Amino acid sequence: MSSDTVPGRYWHGLEDGRIQCDLCPRYCHLRDGQRGLCFVRMRRGDEMVSTTYGRSSGFCVDPIEKKPLNHFLPGTPVFSFGTAGCNLACRFCQNWDISKSREVDTLASSASPEHVAAMADRLGCRSVAYTYNDPVIFLEYALDTAAACRERGLKSVAVTAGYICDEPRREFFAGMDAANVDLKAFTEGFYHKLTGGHLQPVLETIEYIHGETDCWLELTTLLIPGQNDSDTELHRLSEWCLEKLGPDVPLHFSAFHPDYKMTDIATTPAATLQRARRIALEKGMHHVYVGNVHDTDADSTYCPGCGGRVIERDWYELGEWQLQDSGRCAHCGGRIAGVFESQPGSWGRRRLPVSMHESGAGG
Ligand code: SF4
Repeated sequence: MSSDTVPGRYWHGLEDGRIQCDLCPRYCHLRDGQRGLCFVRMRRGDEMVSTTYGRSSGFCVDPIEKKPLNHFLPGTPVFSFGTAGCNLACRFCQNWDISKSREVDTLASSASPEHVAAMADRLGCRSVAYTYNDPVIFLEYALDTAAACRERGLKSVAVTAGYICDEPRREFFAGMDAANVDLKAFTEGFYHKLTGGHLQPVLETIEYIHGETDCWLELTTLLIPGQNDSDTELHRLSEWCLEKLGPDVPLHFSAFHPDYKMTDIATTPAATLQRARRIALEKGMHHVYVGNVHDTDADSTYCPGCGGRVIERDWYELGEWQLQDSGRCAHCGGRIAGVFESQPGSWGRRRLPVSMHESGAGG
């Protein structure tokens, strides 16, 4: 077994000799040598293995707002990385060069969990994000890295579609301090036709994180014209969020750009994002943002108590800061939901690619 191939968790043998992967609701059934839909988990002999442990498509320091997380240590830098492959097959994938990769060449960088944590620490990051492709499929690597980060006082952030089974879900989110879950749409038809997955497991993940963990949660929906942006769907999505999660979970509606197998649909108009935001706010959600467009008003944070602006954002750059005492509105004293410190970070909108080989960080 090469060093980047490690035993994979969550599988069992079937009577017909195949083995079933129980990590995500695809439940791939595999014969010896076969790979799952995610490509990076496979059967080797009589066991499942994960083939991308310690391998990454690249490392980068981003603003935490880019994940997007607007209520989790605003203004701080997050050390971001992903691997290859994905357990969904979204026709509109915005990261398809990574997620659909069948080339090991994509995984040019390598780093142990300790190396990642050490580098993030050295660069002054407050957290590490498992992102670019879905960390569910590299659970072993992500959780070992999260453990190494905790030892150094660094937080862990999952950027995920939430397509994961019950038992691994519990283990995975116990290791995370914040998550942005991609709620791709609010119809089973969309999930089935455009992602090859199902809606219900994603809703279960979202409810689980919010109701049963200490992990801070925000949601993102990429609005695709004609596919998931009808008034009816946006009303239903917002009602579900309010009923199941309450008003304080931030929602991000972001703009689609033609990509991968969906190049025949135009970029999402700004008016669609505004309409979605208005619907969710009218339903009673407190914090609703737009993404992938420049809109300072719709990307700033307002106090749900008095309506005053408490965090101004211009793209990923923070402006006016009106929070006191780690999350109280400076205008009225009301508490803003989230993980805040007395002062914002000052990373700004920079994106800093990192070469682990030249870094000299130990691990
Ligand atoms: S994690 Fe990969 S191998 Fe396992 S069920 Fe999902 S797609 Fe299949």
